Amino acid sequence: MHFTTVTTGHVSTTPPIPLPACRRLAPLRRSLAHPRILLVEHCYAPQVKRLYNGLPRMLIPTVQPPFPLSWGFSTRQTDASQLPDRMLAQIHGCGIWEASDARREGDGHWTQEPGRRIGIRVADCVPILLAGLVHGEPWVAALHAGWRGASSGILRRGIECFIERGGIPHDLYFAFGPCIQACHFEVGPEVIEAAAHDTAWRNDLAYIGSTGKPHLDLHGLLKAQAADMGLNPQKDGSVKRCTLCERDTFYSYRGGDQGRQWGWAEIQR
Ligand SMILES: [Zn+2]
Repeated sequence: MHFTTVTTGHVSTTPPIPLPACRRLAPLRRSLAHPRILLVEHCYAPQVKRLYNGLPRMLIPTVQPPFPLSWGFSTRQTDASQLPDRMLAQIHGCGIWEASDARREGDGHWTQEPGRRIGIRVADCVPILLAGLVHGEPWVAALHAGWRGASSGILRRGIECFIERGGIPHDLYFAFGPCIQACHFEVGPEVIEAAAHDTAWRNDLAYIGSTGKPHLDLHGLLKAQAADMGLNPQKDGSVKRCTLCERDTFYSYRGGDQGRQWGWAEIQR
């Protein structure tokens, strides 16, 4: 007997087959065997130890674009000498610029210039790094996404910048860095309302917490947008850590910290 199920734009005559238990557990086993985060020191400072009092100095996306690139997410333990100059006054918007020596207002910048280290600062918001080839030449971007930026489409705008230069979305490597995760990101209904305007929104990207208020999954929202824009999940090197759960490692705005960590990238010469 055949079943017919109809989903959006798709007709299937076969019933869904539940995965056997061993297949459902396989991703968990893989993630335990191959941690997605390398607790390594940035290659520019080989003289610095990998860990500082047992805590990571830098977190590096596990994916590697097909060109020489240094990139990562700083922590409380990162040396300031490894970090970029502060070139953006971030305003929780969607302004993305080609990086230059001029300081400007905006929440993202990109470069194709080897040796130019670009980055954005966060403490609970998501640092986003993008890296890919346009017409055979390296292109990188760093974006700042809180709920406002994510809801108003800064990731989509960043991917559009890559496409406008000649990049193919499926070839773009990307990584979302440590941020306040859904476990701690209790928000007002207006935040969910703003996020739900995105065409990639799914109801499982938020849940009602123990206090009766919604919690938003920022990484989940960005991943849904990435998929909607044609990015390849195989090129996702995200570091899913919570800034408020891990106060020893990260700065947290909601935790009352003044400090910020960076998401940064530099094309190697
Ligand atoms: Zn948390």
